[in-house]
Amino acid sequence: MNRRTKKYSILFFTLFLSIMLVVATVCLIRLVRMDAHASAVKLEKSEGDHTEKEEHSNSGDSLQHQHTSRPLSSSANYTVERPKVDSIDGIPLTVDLIPNGSEGRPGTKRTVQYVVIHETGNTDPGTGASNHARLLASGENGSTSWHYTVDDHEIYQHLPDNEVGWHCGDGREGPGNQTGIGIELCVNPEGDFDSTFDNAARLTAYLLEAYELTLQDVRQHYDFSGKDCPEQIREQNRWEEFLKLVQTYLRD
Ligand SMILES: [Zn+2]
Repeated sequence: MNRRTKKYSILFFTLFLSIMLVVATVCLIRLVRMDAHASAVKLEKSEGDHTEKEEHSNSGDSLQHQHTSRPLSSSANYTVERPKVDSIDGIPLTVDLIPNGSEGRPGTKRTVQYVVIHETGNTDPGTGASNHARLLASGENGSTSWHYTVDDHEIYQHLPDNEVGWHCGDGREGPGNQTGIGIELCVNPEGDFDSTFDNAARLTAYLLEAYELTLQDVRQHYDFSGKDCPEQIREQNRWEEFLKLVQTYLRD
């Protein structure tokens, strides 16, 4: 090999190496890009799955909200109210509803999921169920509202069971307000609280059966917002006694 041929060979070899290097670099860049794109697609998908799962797992409130905002004609999406009765397990029931359109009666249809127990905390003489019913039916009780008031001899109903009331202090979308039937037990001084307690247990059992709920669906106001209510029952440690009494009135 003469000197000139050697020079050309080196030049050619260098050129070949350079071309190979450029080709290899381009291939490598393309590969990396493809991989990055694949990762991005994967991430996007998993983010999507994640979001979708969250929406599904958040079934309680958001689904509830969807139910309540559907047209009233699709009755399958909210609880159909129990038949009308004028007594519950022998206790007279008077229906005296809060006027439609007042603050305490938004008229929102919903699915019943809980029976929520309260006490009125009202220890003034004469503050039985009828007294509370008059106040609520006047539409002047502001936004606070509930479904039943029970005393030692009668029950008043203030809202249809399948309408939202504001009694749990857990907000407009809270599960207590959105899906609970609120029962207030009177603590009026002339009333016999043990009878009120017993009447409320009978009403609770009746509602559990009417809406195919279980004892686990009986809750205290406290469970939804931490308020010390039903105060007397909580103070005297009578909650388990109440649940047991409800159970004795369940027919199944
Ligand atoms: Zn309460």
